[in-house]
Amino acid sequence: MTIETLPSTRIHLPGSPEFTAATRLWNGAVTHRPAAVARPTSRSEVQSALRYVADSGMPVAVRGGGHDWAGRALIAGGLVIDLSLMRRVDVDVTSQTAFVSGGSTAADVVAATEPFGLVPATGTYGGVGIVGLTLAGGYGPLNGIAGLALDNVIEFEVVLHDGTTTIAHERHEPDLFWALRGGGGNFGVVTGMRVRLHALDSVIAGFIGFPWQQAEQILRRYDVLRPTMPDELTVQIGVLSGPDGNPIVFMAPAWSGTAATGVTWIDRLQRLGTPVIAQVGQMPYSAMLGLFDPRDRRPPLRAAHAHCPITRRRRDRYAAARGRIKKLCVQRHRHSPFPRRRNANSTRRHGVRHPLGSHGRRDRRRVGPGR
Ligand SMILES: Cc1cc2nc3c(=O)[nH]c(=O)nc-3n(C[C@H](O)[C@H](O)[C@H](O)COP(=O)(O)OP(=O)(O)OC[C@H]3O[C@@H](n4cnc5c(N)ncnc54)[C@H](O)[C@@H]3O)c2cc1C
Repeated sequence: MTIETLPSTRIHLPGSPEFTAATRLWNGAVTHRPAAVARPTSRSEVQSALRYVADSGMPVAVRGGGHDWAGRALIAGGLVIDLSLMRRVDVDVTSQTAFVSGGSTAADVVAATEPFGLVPATGTYGGVGIVGLTLAGGYGPLNGIAGLALDNVIEFEVVLHDGTTTIAHERHEPDLFWALRGGGGNFGVVTGMRVRLHALDSVIAGFIGFPWQQAEQILRRYDVLRPTMPDELTVQIGVLSGPDGNPIVFMAPAWSGTAATGVTWIDRLQRLGTPVIAQVGQMPYSAMLGLFDPRDRRPPLRAAHAHCPITRRRRDRYAAARGRIKKLCVQRHRHSPFPRRRNANSTRRHGVRHPLGSHGRRDRRRVGPGR
């Protein structure tokens, strides 16, 4: 088999607009130069592409939503299988599940499910590929009530390295099913997955910013509040540069329970200090996924990629730095160390998988609050 035997309309070489679009990633610093891009529209075209790769020995990479920070979607001199033309989402309202095609973004899935009052477990940003996110774990606003994105997969449809297709679930190919859920990729091309959906009409979400001078007080008080927080509340907390360039402590809460209780919890968060900015309100889940659209990135925000636990030592170092911060840190606190309610469907204890896991770290370390 040669590359010419693949459907010519689906193969794109350097210089074509399709090649340029497919090789443009969220992390613009990635410069790997693939030899060609295949843009399949069906499972059988994915199979052809993988058979070609198997025959030719050409290196291969898979591109979903293009949001991997490490740029794994591109490979120098290889073939990129870009799934961005495979974004169909079929919702089954009766079973509260959806079949999600391999190139769908989180926003694609929510756009299909939200009209039925249902949402999937996603991350915080709609542009991220939902399969890529799930393969890497998938922490997000519903962690407390629904677990990680990987906890919500019922089955994967996978094209393996030799071009054959299999369905992996708890009882069929259980090892593959286990590896796909958190392995980060490299076990075949996931052409689709069936996921559980959750009934949710709206969320209370937004952004609260406190002046840097209050950082120590805020973080100390937050440490006391956190173990009492209910599963419905997820909070991202970290340090970013404010409108005037000075650092601010930010909190990005997401509440997925009843509105009246949520308002009380948001109020508690705001009263941890005196906010300089507080924009929190009730909104559809889809609107929340647009709140942190990185197209609005200003240079200081680009540095905020490092997710890390805000340990006592790190907190003290921030305080001592008094604003002279070069490396910024974002930590997501779901709530108390483990949810009081376990996801009935989950076979795992919940914990937030360290996001660096998708940067090539092989361990499946879980990071609990306080570490
Ligand atoms: C702005 C931003 C916000 C983010 N927010 C969150 C968040 O809230 N929660 C969270 O958990 N993570 C988050 N992430 C991390 C993100 O989930 C991971 O980087 C994920 O790998 C991105 O998937 P992708 O498909 O968009 O990326 P891509 O770069 O397209 O894919 C990355 C790799 O995933 C694998 N992959 C993707 N799709 C498939 C498929 N269909 N079949 C087989 N392999 C596949 C491949 O190995 C591919 O190389 C965020 C990243 C960014 C840039």
